[in-house]
Amino acid sequence: MSKVLKIFTVTGARPQFIKAAAVSAAVARHGDGVKELLVHTGQHFDFNMSQVFFQQMGIPEPAFWLDIHSQPHGAMTGRMLEGLEKLMVQQAPDVVLVYGDTNSTLAGALAARKLNIPVAHVEAGLRSFDLSMPEEVNRIVTDRISTLLFCPTQQAAQNLLAEGFRHYPCSITITGDVMLDALLRFTPKARKPQSDIPEKFVLATLHRQSNTDLPDNLISIMEAISEIANEVPVLMPLHPRTQHALKRNGIATENRNFVITEPVGYLESLWLLQHAATVLTDSGGLQKEAYFLGKTCVTLRNETEWQELVQTGYNIPSGAVKNNILTAFDTLYDKTFEPDLSMYGNGKASETIVNQLMSMSE
Ligand code: UDP
Repeated sequence: MSKVLKIFTVTGARPQFIKAAAVSAAVARHGDGVKELLVHTGQHFDFNMSQVFFQQMGIPEPAFWLDIHSQPHGAMTGRMLEGLEKLMVQQAPDVVLVYGDTNSTLAGALAARKLNIPVAHVEAGLRSFDLSMPEEVNRIVTDRISTLLFCPTQQAAQNLLAEGFRHYPCSITITGDVMLDALLRFTPKARKPQSDIPEKFVLATLHRQSNTDLPDNLISIMEAISEIANEVPVLMPLHPRTQHALKRNGIATENRNFVITEPVGYLESLWLLQHAATVLTDSGGLQKEAYFLGKTCVTLRNETEWQELVQTGYNIPSGAVKNNILTAFDTLYDKTFEPDLSMYGNGKASETIVNQLMSMSE
């Protein structure tokens, strides 16, 4: 009989909880043949950036909590590396599972690789080709040291092949996108946030370092959003990093013609996406969810790692330039379309991933 597979899953930031919810549910369906230990590095720690996702999506309580946050990149990644290494030595997992592109992802992959534990990377192969993005550095390094590369799209697999990955000791599988799995499962439970929501509105989110930490970008984006809000209400659930940046730069948010709220839970986020006329965002996940739900999206960055979205014409990267944002918005506002979900798999990406992990213990 094959032994029980021990998976050590590293999470720490909001989008990882959402991805882990999809995969952990598939792990649970495999019963006694597999044991998952979930680690929360503490990178996101506010209730509405962390716990709410565990509650709403039924993610198992983390087995370990590292409480590492609010530090510069080097200090944060270094402390995570140290903490995760200790846990991995103690727990001796068969495989370490990491998601996406955060410092928690990089630290988890590095710690495991140095201990010669196989690393499985969910969302492998994505590239924005902008090395000034901390996320791009995390993605590239994580991919290079991973054993199992789970690509959400064909484009992601092509990116890896173009970088010579066929010569590396790893396997590449196009699995589809676990965020589509999550969305299909939870959309029927989507619910309206408690705050007053205008009948017609634009949904905006903002949190990329290049937009929050460069005052010129932040000011220009907020001016564009403000101008849009003169035409149609803009609803903005604000990431804590952006809340701090607005305060730091003295950008007033009261009396503006848009509604700023605390970050919302996943079910509320899905509801807002379903009902928004258009989405403005620099989030990777939200761009895709907008597409899944047939909503157009102005991407508040110069490029996106979800390159196929731009090819559809329903996603326009505008950068942080006010006029470009307004032009893209005018082009996309209130347009509807039928998404081609097959670009992101069949809603069973998590199952494919877990099946492949399970085959390690055979
Ligand atoms: N999200 C949420 N509440 C919010 C804003 C976003 O639940 O107030 C969800 C969103 O639906 C998506 C994910 O968070 O599933 C995206 O995470 P984020 O934008 O933080 O990270 P990125 O995808 O850019 O890595």
